Amino acid sequence: MKCLECDGNIAAPKDSMEGEIVTCPDCGASFELVKGSKDFELKPAQTVGEDWGQ
Ligand SMILES: [Zn+2]
Repeated sequence: MKCLECDGNIAAPKDSMEGEIVTCPDCGASFELVKGSKDFELKPAQTVGEDWGQ
């Protein structure tokens, strides 16, 4: 799948699970895997600042 930031290729394992975080090897952006109509889609992950409110 394609990185939303730099259009680079992100290889997600076939057995990935929804909610898993993948990182673009090119720009380092993190994305969350969300289930699309047939394949997984990428959604920007909220990892900046590492503030999870816990
Ligand atoms: Zn990227």
